[in-house]
Amino acid sequence: MKYSRQKELILNSLKERRDHPTADMLYFDLKAGTPDIGIATVYRNLSKLSEEGKILRLHFAGEADRFDGNTAPHSHLVCSVCKNIYDIFPMSAETEALNDIANRLSQEIGAEHLGTEFNIRGVCCSCKRASGSLGGEVL
Ligand SMILES: [Zn+2]
Ligand SMILES: [Zn+2]
Repeated sequence: MKYSRQKELILNSLKERRDHPTADMLYFDLKAGTPDIGIATVYRNLSKLSEEGKILRLHFAGEADRFDGNTAPHSHLVCSVCKNIYDIFPMSAETEALNDIANRLSQEIGAEHLGTEFNIRGVCCSCKRASGSLGGEVL
């Protein structure tokens, strides 16, 4: 398969899903329909696509990088239990407030503020429900 076709395949499959997969997860799913695709190809293309700004690469400390086909501005909540990543969309006033804070804190150490990534660590609602002790509702 041609290089450009593989890149397109990876981009399209990432855009179709909302689960913010790791490179390995994406590779595993692509391999089902495209047996000749290699893990190195998936890694290389994901790096290229994120450098080109066509996808987002998400870093969470201690976790494998996750990839997002949705490049519209949004934030994420990562569940500490199931590791699922949920899209969240702060209101523009909230985004502004966060930017103001980031701006001020950057200035405090004489740095230039280039952008703010706002991510939340939490326990998602299905994990909360699964373990009643975390305050999930009893149905
Ligand atoms: Zn969860
Ligand atoms: Zn996202």
